[in-house]
Amino acid sequence: MRRVRCDVCPRGCALVPGTVGACKARGNKDGNIVPLGYGHVTSIAVDPVEKKPLARWRPGSTVLSLGSYGCNLRCPWCQNHRISQVGSDGVSWRELSPEELIRLAQKVRAEDDRMVGIAYTYNEPLVCWEYVCDASILAHEVGLANVLVSAGCVNAHIVHEVASLIDAANIDLKSLREDTYDMLGGDLHAVRDTIEALAAEPGCHLEVTTLVVPGINDTRSEMRELAAWLAGVDPSIVLHVSRFFPNWRMHDRGPTPVSTVYDLAEVAREHLAYVYTGNC
Ligand code: SF4
Ligand code: SF4
Repeated sequence: MRRVRCDVCPRGCALVPGTVGACKARGNKDGNIVPLGYGHVTSIAVDPVEKKPLARWRPGSTVLSLGSYGCNLRCPWCQNHRISQVGSDGVSWRELSPEELIRLAQKVRAEDDRMVGIAYTYNEPLVCWEYVCDASILAHEVGLANVLVSAGCVNAHIVHEVASLIDAANIDLKSLREDTYDMLGGDLHAVRDTIEALAAEPGCHLEVTTLVVPGINDTRSEMRELAAWLAGVDPSIVLHVSRFFPNWRMHDRGPTPVSTVYDLAEVAREHLAYVYTGNC
């Protein structure tokens, strides 16, 4: 049977008909790679934008946040592993077309005047980037904003497809070490390219989150390097330095000491004007 390669992320899964990729959200159906998770919603909630986290974009507003299943990364500490590490048969979901999502969002907005848009979040939204695009186009038509919360580990042409539709994004930069991304099944270069592309997008407000995990990325030298690189992209990028808690497959260490998070945030402030701490 002929294999077809998925071109969405650096994994480049080569799939025969009837199989799914490493993200569990795309697969080969009748010889074509398709987004199996398109419109399959596992989680939906109205969240303050600060929870995404977005610190400097429409503070005090809320967004209708939704997630599906699947992710192309394998962070052993994933808080959302029950939806990010399974496919359609591993979690309950309901179908919500882009049109139905927009109707729901308009209903929420009618009842909550702080509500400004839709956030694609919880699992990795870009493994089903087609849904993000289709919903985002409709959202803009009715004056709703689009927020993307992603690990950003996709190929450049996917970022190009979505970038002009996104009003605000929070992208994880898990480390500036290639071996850390290797451990997670990701690709540092792809993530850096995504951050650079979104920073260059005039209509997109960009924030970045780095979860500080003890023994993985908690040195001052790595934080200094990471902040310097971000500042080289755009010194006005907002960085969230966030505290790790044990979860999923990582219970061999305790939470990041709060003092470490504060210290690394100070290090980041040597290069960046807007640095926030999270989960402290
Ligand atoms: S998006 Fe999914 S199917 Fe496509 S290459 Fe990445 S992991 Fe594989
Ligand atoms: S990228 Fe996010 S959703 Fe995916 S495994 Fe890592 S923490 Fe979980």
